[in-house]
Amino acid sequence: SLDYGLAPEADSNVRDWLKGHDASFGHFIDGAFRPSKDGKTLSTREPATGDELAKIAQGSAEDVDDAVAVATKAQASWEGLGGKGRARHIYALARMVQRHARLFAVLEALDNGKPIRETRDLDIPLVARHFYHHAGWAELQDTELADYKPIGVVGQIIPWNFPLLMLAWKVAPALALGNTVVLKPAEATPLTALLFAELAARSGLPAGVLNVVTGDGATGAALVKHDGVGKIAFTGSTEVGRIIRAETAGSGKSLTLELGGKSPFIVFDDADMESAVEGVVDAIWFNQGQVCCAGSRLLVHEGIHDRFIARLKERMNALRVGHPLDKAIDMGAIIEQSQLERISALVGKGVEEGAEAYVPDIQTPENGCFYPPTLLTGVEPASTVATEEIFGPVMVAMSFRTPDEAVALANNTRYGLAASVWSENISLALDIAPQLKAGVVWVNATNLFDAGVGFGGYRESGYGREGGLEGAYEYLKPNAWSARKPRKPVPPVPVVEAT
Ligand code: NAD
Repeated sequence: SLDYGLAPEADSNVRDWLKGHDASFGHFIDGAFRPSKDGKTLSTREPATGDELAKIAQGSAEDVDDAVAVATKAQASWEGLGGKGRARHIYALARMVQRHARLFAVLEALDNGKPIRETRDLDIPLVARHFYHHAGWAELQDTELADYKPIGVVGQIIPWNFPLLMLAWKVAPALALGNTVVLKPAEATPLTALLFAELAARSGLPAGVLNVVTGDGATGAALVKHDGVGKIAFTGSTEVGRIIRAETAGSGKSLTLELGGKSPFIVFDDADMESAVEGVVDAIWFNQGQVCCAGSRLLVHEGIHDRFIARLKERMNALRVGHPLDKAIDMGAIIEQSQLERISALVGKGVEEGAEAYVPDIQTPENGCFYPPTLLTGVEPASTVATEEIFGPVMVAMSFRTPDEAVALANNTRYGLAASVWSENISLALDIAPQLKAGVVWVNATNLFDAGVGFGGYRESGYGREGGLEGAYEYLKPNAWSARKPRKPVPPVPVVEAT
């Protein structure tokens, strides 16, 4: 029976939920948990303390095979429900997320290390919004998208930085438009995906429509290779994206890749300084800088450079780093020790290459995986820290003289995911924005996301869009009988090619 969000009572807290499962989870296949065929497990830990939260199953090729078989079996009846039939389920999922918002928010903060303020106010509400939005597309599918049909079974692989939000970006459009899913969450943060799958089943989602196979990169690789999968949707590093692209080439599988970035944050001399400083805080210290579209390269007009940097340092002195469940903190923990070491090594390299590092004199917890907010100034555009994605709370700053130089510096990257422009002169901002080679450009803002707007990159940031109508087409293919006259997909936001 389909529950319209008058869902079962929320588990009172995360510890109870974990205890109810003996802190040990199998894959979620065909509407229930089942262990790995070979019995292998992994641990998922709290980055803030290092404590084990739970054991999860390490999926093998056999487990992936199992999940794909179940999804294949469920496909015809899910597709057969029609858009309106599926919309009811997708609305139910949105309501389920809202009803259990607190549980999701706490579990995400513990498993990932990000501040509860972020999971509570941003991640989880956006997750619900994605399901509401895509329920709308399901309702419209039979009329507005009648020339298209679902791809079938899709394999989805997601990273650890926004675990449940990345699930929503992928699962909501896939299911809404009539596909079935095998999802592989990141090995460091599998718990909210497992909770989601369990509660989805309890809310009436038919068994086999959404399957979660947990494990590391080898599990992901088995999913990519599987012949029964019609599409792979991947979010993660450019390095793994490249492997997946090579692996799927010539296989007939559809592919979307959402990869890394090194996004510019451009401040002109007439920018509102206080707003721009707050913008920097959001651009690079939100989620400890572990954000694919983080504004991680600060480009400041030379006329205000020194004043701006001084004000930014003052602001950094007021940032608070601490336990993710403390509502008063601005930054939580880094996902794991290896990431911490990578960030630290890159900052060391930056200093070696001539940059000056500023670290505010603030307390960070002694134990656990914490890194302080860091600013590198005097950075050379060609240096390692100016070109490589750090994926941590480290801003690199440079200055520019003219708008043309700002554009050239901004586009001087292998990536092209996002950009942010700060100026009180809207004509200048709107002149600069289309010259930036980025999937999204924010003016006097940063990190704004909406389920109705396609998100994605250019160049080494990947291709394909997630969200909105553009994202919906990524989960559809032309219907055979109308193939002679397919409707044209809405093109992505036009960009001016940089020369
Ligand atoms: P990662 O590429 O190591 O892992 C991502 C996922 O891929 C994980 O689930 C992992 O288990 C799996 N995986 C690893 N090797 C695989 C293989 N050979 N075949 C198939 N799957 C494999 O990345 P990460 O460290 O989890 O995430 C950080 C990276 O993700 C950063 O570079 C960041 O920029 C990027 N990212 C991009 C976006 C975006 O929307 N563009 C969003 C979030 C993160």
